Amino acid sequence: MSKSTAFVPTMGALHAGHLSLIELAKSYSDEVVVSIFVNPLQFENPDDLAKYPRDIESDRAMALNAGATQIWAPTIDEIYPSNPTIISAGPLGNKFEGVNRPGHFDGVITVVDRLFKKVEPEFAILGEKDFQQLFLIKQWVKEQQIPVTIIAAPLVRDSDGLALSSRNVRLGDDGRRQALVISKALFVARESEHPEEVMAQILRSEPAFTLDYAVIIDEESFEIASPQTKHRRALIAGWVNGVRLLDNIAMSVNA
Ligand code: AMP
Repeated sequence: MSKSTAFVPTMGALHAGHLSLIELAKSYSDEVVVSIFVNPLQFENPDDLAKYPRDIESDRAMALNAGATQIWAPTIDEIYPSNPTIISAGPLGNKFEGVNRPGHFDGVITVVDRLFKKVEPEFAILGEKDFQQLFLIKQWVKEQQIPVTIIAAPLVRDSDGLALSSRNVRLGDDGRRQALVISKALFVARESEHPEEVMAQILRSEPAFTLDYAVIIDEESFEIASPQTKHRRALIAGWVNGVRLLDNIAMSVNA
């Protein structure tokens, strides 16, 4: 494949967040490859894998319409022809998302490594929606000196504030409304001098929300932020109506 390709890896069930990545990819290259592959290795929960929404024909049309020049929907055998060697995401792979999703980031790094080797893109466009994933992939690419430039794309929200996610379709009407507590907590925390307390308080106000974690991290190290931290980001993960949701925002009050 051409070296100047801009690559957008996805698991399909495309929404406007994915399309924004494709549009951003177009500004880096005329050749935009979109992969659609639901990676079994990154699902620690078989039920979540079974319920993951899939609609390849609609995905194909949406991606082409947004400017993709090639849609690549490989089979599992194409990506994992034999028993794959699982790549470790390292210690950060077991923190935050990794606490509740053991092995998830090992699966992510393993598939990204395979996808990058097949596509050999010059640019890969990844969403800030999955902030820890973005950080770990950047780290992996740097460590392994993989010749790809990672471009971070901003998180896209619905007009009511909910971060777009393929899993949102499973929320139901009540769940969707209840899930808004997450973005609300982030918007208030962003402006607050005491963001941890504010997030916890707002999240507790919604009984339908079950918290996994709500933290402020240092964007450079992915450690919990200290008073010296320059670039801070609030991360929230939790559950509404059996659906796991993830969101984050850059803090406007920085040291
Ligand atoms: P997924 O299909 O969920 O694996 O996501 C594929 C890519 O789209 C990843 O780089 C995600 O971070 C990105 N993405 C998913 N949702 C959003 C969103 N709401 N805004 C921006 N990027 C997103």
